[in-house]
Amino acid sequence: MRSLVLIGHGSHLNGESAVAVYRYAELIRQRGLFDEVIEGYWKEEPSLRQVLRTTASTDVTVIPMFISEGYFTETVIPREMGLGHQGPVPPEGVARVIGGRTVRYTLPYGVHPSMTDVILARAREVLPDASPEDTALIVLGHGTTRNENSNKIVYQNADRIRESGQFAEVQALFLDEDPKVGTWPETVRSPRVVVVPFFASEGWHTLETIPEDMGLTGTVTDFPDNPHGHQQVFYAKPVGTHAAVADVILHLAEEASGAGGPGGDTERGHEAAWQAFLKGARAGLRIGEVLVTPELGVFELRNALDEGRPGGELTTLVTPEGVRDQVRFTDGGEHRPVHTLRNLPRGWRAVLSEADLRRAMHYVYPAVIEETYAHDCHALRPTPWATTARRQTGIYAKVQKATPAQVEHVAQDVCTGCLRTRLWAGQRLTHSFLDGVPGGIPCAEACTFVVAEVREEVSGKRGGGGH
Ligand code: SF4
Repeated sequence: MRSLVLIGHGSHLNGESAVAVYRYAELIRQRGLFDEVIEGYWKEEPSLRQVLRTTASTDVTVIPMFISEGYFTETVIPREMGLGHQGPVPPEGVARVIGGRTVRYTLPYGVHPSMTDVILARAREVLPDASPEDTALIVLGHGTTRNENSNKIVYQNADRIRESGQFAEVQALFLDEDPKVGTWPETVRSPRVVVVPFFASEGWHTLETIPEDMGLTGTVTDFPDNPHGHQQVFYAKPVGTHAAVADVILHLAEEASGAGGPGGDTERGHEAAWQAFLKGARAGLRIGEVLVTPELGVFELRNALDEGRPGGELTTLVTPEGVRDQVRFTDGGEHRPVHTLRNLPRGWRAVLSEADLRRAMHYVYPAVIEETYAHDCHALRPTPWATTARRQTGIYAKVQKATPAQVEHVAQDVCTGCLRTRLWAGQRLTHSFLDGVPGGIPCAEACTFVVAEVREEVSGKRGGGGH
């Protein structure tokens, strides 16, 4: 049995941030090569602190869904996941045994050599007859002062493509450092120029900054009066959103774990947690704001506030992904980075098999089944605020200055709206939803949403209503 975990950044504010990782997880799930594909996030749930506990096997491969190495892949992810590693990840990855699971952490997908094929695929999309006679390729990177590795990978890809002889010339240019993209008319000579952004996703840079810096007006732009004569620029979509990235992820995973290897076993604590939940579900159960009702061999999920409403008045969902997309936003359309906040949308019901019920519950309340069961078995260790604060780096290091009163002020504001009981602040949970108390859900450690709010509090920028 093998589990694959894809790690994304996520966002406290933007509900679309996690979508690319969801989509890749779906594509890889369809290939059936892993027994499960789980997503985890820095700023959403399941969080980096929780995600390993949500994996069903003892053989776990973790892939950071980032375009380059840097602060998140070398510092934040290994630290938060407890990998006992900091700094550059070696090409063979990092392997650790954590809580009975063998965990392999790989380089980010963007640095894999097969990304060269994705660049070429993007180039062909926008100019199918690109030729070594008259076409130049620009591989366009962000450029950063924070980490020179992100540029290294752009140069490596440009070198590989240059050596393949498929283009008359190949250049690596950057948005934020030399050689800058705006210099292209002086350095690129070919009459046809393909530009492929080496970016993770479509966004401000690919839609605005790059076109502005290059003078582009659409997918194809003519430049009749350039220093080297008339040139035509073909602007491709970013590499990170190409479906072939799924193949890159699988290459990485196979290299890390050994294709077709024996894999691991079912993780016993995880399975016991879900069996405890399913036992309750077969009898009918309320967990948080959700009602689980057995119905002739399937299960119905709905918001408990919709109890008794005729099914015809509710939107019926039939897949875990449908449930996931339904519960990502409040009734008012606001993003829900913390799923245990009491703002689950109403007006839907899901009808699911037992296998799909497990996946749907994972989406409704990520890590809640596993953490609650662990709590009930006295195996969930709380992390006090001081420990969480000490661990923070970068812009969040500032939370170390927060006074207990400031932390409590934020918690009173944010956590009061959450189902979880703050074990990290010394609160006690005597009964859980597994004992029939729907709101009995432990919080072992301050979530990143609260950490971010404490930072705002320390900075004096906090309005008091949360993000
Ligand atoms: Fe909920 Fe507060 Fe725990 Fe975050 S820190 S999960 S808001 S109880």
